[in-house]
Amino acid sequence: MAKIFCIANQKGGVGKTTTAVNLAAALAKLGQRVLLVDLDPQGNATMGSGVNKSDLEVSVYQVLLGMGDLRSAIHSSETGHYDVLPSNRDLAGAEVEMVELDQRELRLKLALASVQDQYDFVLIDCPPALSMLTLNGLCAAHGVIIPMQCEYYALEGLSDLVNTIKIVHAKMNPDLKVIGLLRVMFDPRMMLSQQVSSQLEKHFGDKVFKTIIPRNVRLAEAPSYGIPGVIFDSAAKGAQAYTAFGKELLDRIAVL
Ligand code: ATP
Ligand code: MG
Repeated sequence: MAKIFCIANQKGGVGKTTTAVNLAAALAKLGQRVLLVDLDPQGNATMGSGVNKSDLEVSVYQVLLGMGDLRSAIHSSETGHYDVLPSNRDLAGAEVEMVELDQRELRLKLALASVQDQYDFVLIDCPPALSMLTLNGLCAAHGVIIPMQCEYYALEGLSDLVNTIKIVHAKMNPDLKVIGLLRVMFDPRMMLSQQVSSQLEKHFGDKVFKTIIPRNVRLAEAPSYGIPGVIFDSAAKGAQAYTAFGKELLDRIAVL
């Protein structure tokens, strides 16, 4: 049975998609069977995996609304060697359209049940909001990976996210837990980065992953080629950090 993890943080531009795409590619490189679910209408994880969001016949949108079959929606990332349940701007309508549906927060969970045995990991790239889409991700998942930039405002939104996770855990999904906080876009030359980083370690202890993802231009360039950074330039510091993160995650869940 697949381990299902959401990559979530309601703040925009904090590195969720970069983490989702590169973790998918890193785990695939480590021999794991991975499905990456793009739950964001921006479709960045889709494009970053080399799947064209403009010509999807069936996407995660149809799957959530019960208008399309999951298997026919799944594409293969030729560049990343994992599967993708892609998304595009159609998904923006889903928030409103799902209001009418029964079990609207469980649509993704129910859809994924049919492919659980085919993967070791399902990674869900969430949009930057605590919305119905993110709620679907949290209800479908066993755990949450929270990417964080080590800057002054980073901690501010964290309590809202942690509270939401607690509520979902208590009321809808008892399996859900925080797997860990991942420090991303880290700049060791900045005093503030170091300070926030050690504050995170002090407050969250073991919940902070040991691996730190540095700010690295090769990671930012890779999406425009539709290739995960881990594959695009595997020797780059950012790629090596995401590969190390894949290994750390495998070790961490082995003891969960
Ligand atoms: P959104 O909230 O809009 O979905 P996001 O949280 O998914 O954003 P990303 O799209 O992963 O964030 O990253 C935001 C920007 O930062 C992108 O341009 C990405 O290429 C860049 N970026 C992410 N991680 C790194 C890194 N480690 N080094 C350099 N650039 C990075
Ligand atoms: Mg994103």
